Order: sequence, then C-alpha cells, then structure tokens
Amino acid sequence: MPGSTDQTLRPFLWRAARMFPDVEIVSRTHDGIERYDYAAYENRTAQLANALRDAGIERGDRIGTVCWNHHRHFETYFGVPSMGAQLHTINPLLPDEHVGYIVENAADRVLFVDPSLAEKLAGAVSEDPDAFESVEQYVVMGDEDSIPDVPLDPMVDYESFVGDESTAYDWPQLAGEQPAGMCYTSGTTGRPKGVEYTQEMLWSHTMATITPQGLGIDADDVVMPAVPMFHVNAWGMPFTSTAAGAKHVYPGPSPTPADIAGLIEDEEVTLTAGVPTVWIGLLEYMEDNEVDLSSLERIVIGGSAAPESMIRRFDDLGVEVMHAWGMTEMSPIGSVSHLKPGMEEWNAERRYEKRAKQGLMVPGIEFQVIDEGSEEIEWNGEDFGELWVRGPWITTEYYERPEANEEDFEEGWLKTGDVVTVDPEGYIKLVDRAKDVIKSGGEWISSVELENELMAHDDVAEATVIGVPHERWQERPVAFVVPDERADRNALAEELPEMIEAEYPKWWRPDDVVFIDEVPKTATGKFDKKVLREEYSDEEFADGQVPEGAAPGSE
Ligand code: ADP
Repeated sequence: MPGSTDQTLRPFLWRAARMFPDVEIVSRTHDGIERYDYAAYENRTAQLANALRDAGIERGDRIGTVCWNHHRHFETYFGVPSMGAQLHTINPLLPDEHVGYIVENAADRVLFVDPSLAEKLAGAVSEDPDAFESVEQYVVMGDEDSIPDVPLDPMVDYESFVGDESTAYDWPQLAGEQPAGMCYTSGTTGRPKGVEYTQEMLWSHTMATITPQGLGIDADDVVMPAVPMFHVNAWGMPFTSTAAGAKHVYPGPSPTPADIAGLIEDEEVTLTAGVPTVWIGLLEYMEDNEVDLSSLERIVIGGSAAPESMIRRFDDLGVEVMHAWGMTEMSPIGSVSHLKPGMEEWNAERRYEKRAKQGLMVPGIEFQVIDEGSEEIEWNGEDFGELWVRGPWITTEYYERPEANEEDFEEGWLKTGDVVTVDPEGYIKLVDRAKDVIKSGGEWISSVELENELMAHDDVAEATVIGVPHERWQERPVAFVVPDERADRNALAEELPEMIEAEYPKWWRPDDVVFIDEVPKTATGKFDKKVLREEYSDEEFADGQVPEGAAPGSE
C-alpha cells in the first residue's frame, strides 16, 4: 500500500513555518543584510506562486534562475516546485553560449536574474536571441531601484512582481515523480547535460543527508551554504536546513573571504559548505586577519578532493571537516567521510588518511566498482576501477541526450567516470577522474594524490597536475603550482619533485614544475585542467628522465 501522500518538498516548509516560525533566514544582498523568519518566508513563497500563476505558469513549466545565494533565490526553491513547476538553476559563470544552450534546451518561461548578473545575461541574449525565445518574463532580484539599464525585455523587479499578491496559496498535492528541479553539469567534458530532479528525488536526498551519517543537520544549526545555489541546489542544503528547522544564512553576490568570515562571526554560523578553493581563500585571509571561528563546528568540503592538509588545518582551528563526494547526477551527495566507532582511538596518521578519503556512501545508495576487465574489484584499498552508483536520488538519464545516456548509464547504474579504490571498511577513495588519470609506461599515476601532496607544502597555495604526452612513456606528470607570495621559487622547483619521490614510486615524480599565477577554474570553482592542457599544448617541458630500474612497473 502506498503512503497517504507522495514524497514531496512542501511538508518540510509546512512544518518549519509552524514549528519554527521565528527562526531566521538571513542574507547578504546588494542592499546589505536582510533578515526575516520562516513564517514570513512561507508567505513570500505563496506570493511568488500566485505571481507565477498570474503570469500563466502551469504545472510542469520551467522557471530559470541566474542568481547568487540570497533569500529571494531561496523563495524560488520552495515557491516554484511546490506549485508544480520546475526550478532550473543556471550557473551564471558559464560561457554565454552555454547559458543560451541551457535556456533553449530547458525552454525556460521566466528567468529570475540578479542585478549584478543582468548585464552578463543580456550579453548572452544579444549573442543568440533565438535561444531565449521561450522566455516571456525577466524578473530582477530586487526592488524598483534595482532595475538595471540592460536590454532584457520584458523586465520587472521582484518586489513589484510579488508585492500585491495574496499570502495564501492552495498548494496542490503533487506526485512524487513530478519534476521539481533541474541543473546542468558544468560541461567540463563537452556540452552541458541537463539533469532533472523529481519531487521524490529531492525528498529522499533531503531525508538521507539530514541524518548523522549524511551531514547531520539539526534545529540548533545555523547553516550557510557558501556553495552557490546554482551548483546542484547548494548541495541540497536549503531543503535540508528547512527540513531541520535550522537558521539559514546566505552569503549573497560574489562573496569574498572577508564576507564569508564576517557572516560566520556575525550570524554565529555552525555549519557551512563549499568547494576547496573557497576554503583555500578563507585560510589565506586568516593569515593576515583576525577571524573568530568559535561558532563554526563543521564544514562540508566537496566538489573536488579536500586535501588532507586542509582537514588538519581546520581541525587545529576546532572545525571538523566533513569530506563529501557527489555529482550533479546525484542531487548531488553520494558519500561523506565520517569515522566509524572505534576509529577515534586510531593514531592521527590513520585517522586523517581515512578522513581524506571520499568516505562511506550515505544510507540509501548502493555502489560497485568495475575494473577494466569488467569485473568487480576487491575491497582491499589497492585495486581500482570505475565507480557505479544507484539510489533513489540518482538520475537514470540526461534530459534529451540519448547518446550520453547510452554512455553513462547501464542496467540502472550511473557510471560516474570516477576511478576509485575501496578499503576493507568500505571507504571509497577517488584516485582520479577517468579522463584525468595519467598513464605512464602502462602504469597509473593519480593526479589527485599528487595535487594533495603538493598542496600540503607550506609554500604552495594551489597545485594541479596533468599528464603531458611523452614519446617513451606515453604520458608524464607535470605540476602547475601557484607559489605562496613569500616562496623561493628556485628552491621550491627542486624541493617539490623530491618530496613526491620520497613518498611515491619514482615514476610519479613530476617531470617539470611550472609556476603560474592562478589555476584556471571551472564555473563551479574546480581546477580546470582542460584550459591548462590547451594553453600548454605546444610547450616543451623538462624531461624528468625516469631512471632505468625505476621505470614504471619495475617497483
Ligand atoms: P562537473 O562534472 O561539471 O564538474 P559536478 O559538479 O557534477 O560537475 O562534478 C562531479 C564530479 O566532481 C565527480 O564526478 C568527481 O569527479 C568530482 N568530485 C566531487 N566531489 C569530490 C570529492 N570530494 N573529491 C574528489 N572529486 C570530487
């Protein structure tokens, strides 16, 4: 027998607005700090739903957002899906032609846009007006004064759009399979691919990640997603925090490390989340500025590997890092690296080694790891293969991309493209993305591992490693390093390869160390190796001369 209602988002807000009506939602906006509570928030979502209905929006229509993290954007998170429409969050940092492609592919009928992003959006529209043919209304996230001088037509400000609407809305009972959200993978590997999230996918992701073996969010938390709300729904945290009745803090347009630090202090944030680059920025800022992190208990770090050195740094500051792994296709959270009972007693070395792994799948997800011979690997922490996953919040297809479906899904499993090991305790460790693995003399070299090791050096701010073509060994690793301002580059160029050689097989030693000012980043803040590969495609690198006897495979 089915339950009396389907699994949908709306009851999470129903509960928060009644049981935690005074709990605050705070955001840093173009106009300064704004705050209200769940009771007011619920009213605003009803006003938004009424405004959208007046604009002709019906069940199944798509509504796009081109916005940073703030309360108005959060209003679309419940307002849009709970009326039966579909919230399509768009990454504004993508190239214009990708934004156009995405809007056209999703056929968004309304686009909400931040004042600071309106010019960028207008640029994308003027480049390819046909791609935006489906858009009937642009809504600028602010009041009358926020209307920018850009050609987006027709354009209205958000406060005028929702202002006169009723705070009551007859929310429909929706089916679990009703599409509720949509997000495109950032396209580091070709054209962006659309992933649709149904009501029940978002519901089950929320229920799993709220648990202690997920992110463990509770009513006494103050949650600040630093991860943008256009990056897989800020990892679902706006939904999870609401389900918990927690206080929300949104850091607004392009937050700097100073903004992040200030909000943690002022709003007494207990839990925050973001990609490693955000935390590299905060830690650097803290070198020259006094920051009080005493309220902060946990940071979720994911999207790219959290270096062990970063986990240690935050531990010293009294902040527990929860290293999480996931994908757009997974709503997004798959695994979190929590220690099991008893492991707290282990020595520091072993504990950190475990915590730096991508961790244990959260309850509800199954996985298998398939090697090159199509066999399941042994869980011995050494054998590796491609990680396949399945579960209630993992998609089974891309939107209108049959050729990609053929490649990425098999018998109900999502083939993640991530190469992992699994240890006897069930912790996965990401060795590399399949396309980033360096294959030298027939042996694998993990670029992720090398990067983590390099970034542990005090004089290294950022580091990434790519495989460059090599006549004899097919590929060799070259390190691209952003040195600390104070670093002695000559010394570093010698020290880093030696450091790697001391820890790893000799052929893992990078052939060359190239100093750069900044590692190029993708639209979600990850290291963009594709750009480096292109930029340095004609470069002659030093040949590290892998010594005879230390050749790949001989150790
Ligand atoms: P994109 O493919 O556009 O970067 P996603 O944000 O969906 O979009 O990226 C998912 C990928 O990010 C994963 O397949 C994995 O390679 C990488 N990733 C996510 N979390 C981690 C992590 N904790 N450690 C290492 N890699 C990670």
